[in-house]
Amino acid sequence: MSRMPLLFIGHGSPMVALERSETTRAWGRIAAAMPRPKAILSISAHWMTRATAVTGMASPRTIHDFGAFPPELFAVQYPAPGDPELAAKVRTLLAPKPVMIDGGQWGLDHGTWTVLVHLYPDADIPVVQLGMDVNLKPAERIAIGERLRPLREEGVLILGTGNIVHNLPAMDWNRPEVEYDWSRRFNDYVTGAIAEEAHGRVADFHLAGRDAELAVPTPDHFWPLLYVLGARAPGEAVRFGPDFIHHGSLSMTSMVFGG
Ligand code: ZN
Repeated sequence: MSRMPLLFIGHGSPMVALERSETTRAWGRIAAAMPRPKAILSISAHWMTRATAVTGMASPRTIHDFGAFPPELFAVQYPAPGDPELAAKVRTLLAPKPVMIDGGQWGLDHGTWTVLVHLYPDADIPVVQLGMDVNLKPAERIAIGERLRPLREEGVLILGTGNIVHNLPAMDWNRPEVEYDWSRRFNDYVTGAIAEEAHGRVADFHLAGRDAELAVPTPDHFWPLLYVLGARAPGEAVRFGPDFIHHGSLSMTSMVFGG
């Protein structure tokens, strides 16, 4: 079996699940251009844990982990099966580091399903979510990605879902088309480093100074990208797109490696 492409999606507001836009169509095209995965391992910005974790249930529930949104959004279900075998495999690959197998506390959160409803609307591919240990350094997240890389040879799609730039308080809700100078500079710092396969510069994103402080005020949405970079094979090509910032400080930049 050839190696599955590797994917990072810049996700938007949870409402994106209900949208049909240029962005969601582009996500659909990304999926359509890839071989059908046997399973999906999703690393969402929205599951933070005290040790690395994976969902181990046969039928993970759809979690509506957000506040004031319309009932239509709470009605969305993504009933993909789980894959306990894949969860166990992740634990084996990361050993001796401990991996907590979650039997029901979590499920598929909106970082995962608001994207997957557009990538794989039929919800018929098994999905396991990976929880991010809050205590790891950036290089340790890349190292976990490296350990997970062999899953790609077995037809598993590794998907990171987060954002290069994610500053909600700074967003200009009235102007979707605007991008702030610092957002664009930081986005380009990161995509430039990825294009040159300089993953250390992404791990050391703080070196971008004030731009980094503004773009990554809390690290949760940036972390999934680090796991994805670890899972990149040496020399593997990257393609960026969609690649834009909206509302000033939310990067929707996505990228596909390989394929
Ligand atoms: Zn998010």
